[in-house]
Amino acid sequence: SIMDTNFLELLERAKAADANPKGEPLRFDGQVAIVTGAGGGLGKAYALLLASLGASVVVNDLGGSHSGQGADARAADMVVSEIQKAGGKAVANYDSVEEGDKVVETALKAFGRVDILVNNAGILRDKSFARMADADWDLVQKVHLRGTYKVVQAAWPHFVKQKYGRIINTASAVGLYGNFGQANYSAAKLGVVGFTKTLALEGQRKNILCNVIAPNAGTRMTATVMPPEMVEAFKPEYVAPLIAYLGHSSNEETGSIFEVGSGWVAKVRWQRTGGVGFPANRELTPEQVAKEWARITDFDDGRATNPATTQDSFAGFMDNFGNVARDS
Ligand code: NAD
Repeated sequence: SIMDTNFLELLERAKAADANPKGEPLRFDGQVAIVTGAGGGLGKAYALLLASLGASVVVNDLGGSHSGQGADARAADMVVSEIQKAGGKAVANYDSVEEGDKVVETALKAFGRVDILVNNAGILRDKSFARMADADWDLVQKVHLRGTYKVVQAAWPHFVKQKYGRIINTASAVGLYGNFGQANYSAAKLGVVGFTKTLALEGQRKNILCNVIAPNAGTRMTATVMPPEMVEAFKPEYVAPLIAYLGHSSNEETGSIFEVGSGWVAKVRWQRTGGVGFPANRELTPEQVAKEWARITDFDDGRATNPATTQDSFAGFMDNFGNVARDS
């Protein structure tokens, strides 16, 4: 786990290293961005950065607790006033992302368009699976997966019409790899990954690019599990630049997964072993599978691939069609 890392040592090494040179500024003048869950944590950092780069920003936040209880307009209002004080343009929206049409409506009413959608709102209802109630499961699915779906659903026709859109969705390492006590959350977060990959395919011809991030940041969501030094180093401000990059018109990346945090950014892809093709015209028995298990699961025999599309995936099956045992 990240907690096992010798974190302070890594931090010292990072401080000693040279800072990255800055490139040309990526500006968002005249563009409109919606950031959900932007009343605090990561979303707030995204909203502040995009606004400082010239975007008009809809700061959506329901303002409830980290477990999804209650509502409070102050969360979004405070971020809006911070943006405005800095000379930026922003408007608040207090609806749950489950009501995505209202979130998008706020953008259209205030700014007349929408170009960038960052689906970031989220809650946690951690419980070991044996103790998990339907309410814990359902609310987490509703906010993360259905909420992401509903806001995209409302923005999509506008993206299609203007032949332009940038969507950044939020998954989690917990969705990619699993985590004790987060069955509900990991299911929702991997759902967001699949959703994003399909949107990327359907949006590509309309210049609607969709990517998904698995961030790590010190926020109220992680404050209880991260030591203070780590919260300090995992600033949401270290995640926001990736959002700006992926949300920019110059970005051509789509359908990709990124892990990001503490100033580190990496892309994630699937890997599949070379597999074992059994004769296609023969009965396949459990014993044959058992016998080949080592090869079925071997990533290191030089035959592993990285399927990037469903077509790539299917090619593995097609290849085995010709694998016909001859009667001897
Ligand atoms: P956070 O709790 O600080 O921020 C989440 C925000 O979403 C809150 O301001 C909350 O009020 C808002 N929100 C919750 N439900 C909402 C709803 N129904 N409608 C509108 N707004 C709602 O947490 P964070 O750490 O900034 O998390 C942001 C996103 O990143 C979440 O999707 C989270 O799952 C994901 N994430 C965070 C981490 C991390 O290390 N912090 C790791 C993996 C994934």
